[in-house]
Amino acid sequence: MNHVNVNGPGKIIYTIRGYPNVCPYCKTTIVPVSMFAYNNRILEVFTVCTADDCRKSFIAYYVSMGSIYNFGGYTSAGNLSSKTFEDAINLTSSEFCIIYNEAFQAEQAGLLNICGAGYRKSLEFLIKDYAISKNVENHDAIKKMPLSQVIKKYIDNPKIVEVSTRAAWIGNDETHYIKIWTDLDLSDLKNLIDLIVKYIEMEALHQKYVNSMQSNAG
Ligand SMILES: [Zn+2]
Repeated sequence: MNHVNVNGPGKIIYTIRGYPNVCPYCKTTIVPVSMFAYNNRILEVFTVCTADDCRKSFIAYYVSMGSIYNFGGYTSAGNLSSKTFEDAINLTSSEFCIIYNEAFQAEQAGLLNICGAGYRKSLEFLIKDYAISKNVENHDAIKKMPLSQVIKKYIDNPKIVEVSTRAAWIGNDETHYIKIWTDLDLSDLKNLIDLIVKYIEMEALHQKYVNSMQSNAG
């Protein structure tokens, strides 16, 4: 891999090798420009993204290998990713989409002890708002009821009942002192929430075509 010389303070020149090939802001693959280096125990290189619609600057960290500094695999934080949900989910529960993404951002920030509780909260909003959408007249009761009872009493789709019951079990593990499902973790909770999201999307799509094609007029 080619070496690049980067100016430091005064007349110092640092020779660096390697570079971050994904921008922490726009997430595109780049060959960034290294503008300036400052040795702060590890070498901090002021780096600029070369993507036309980004051009943001960030710090890339390099470690000393004798007279050359190697890219250490880390940069300063850019944008956190967020998950976008289809209209069917936003219409069912906009609060779910907000809370899910707050948990996702906590997860990306490495706050692994609290993001599980966030995902569990998002699950409660998704299931309760979904139940309310099917049982509008009972919205007050559904809001106050424990999640497990809402699933039993107000969810008709057996697949959503099966999956959301299990998501609630793992979700409760994320908020309590003693873990019951010791072999399941955050990724299982997220998988189950993703499944519920897909079932709700499928139902909405199914309903859309049933409603829009009532009879074979031709
Ligand atoms: Zn960029």
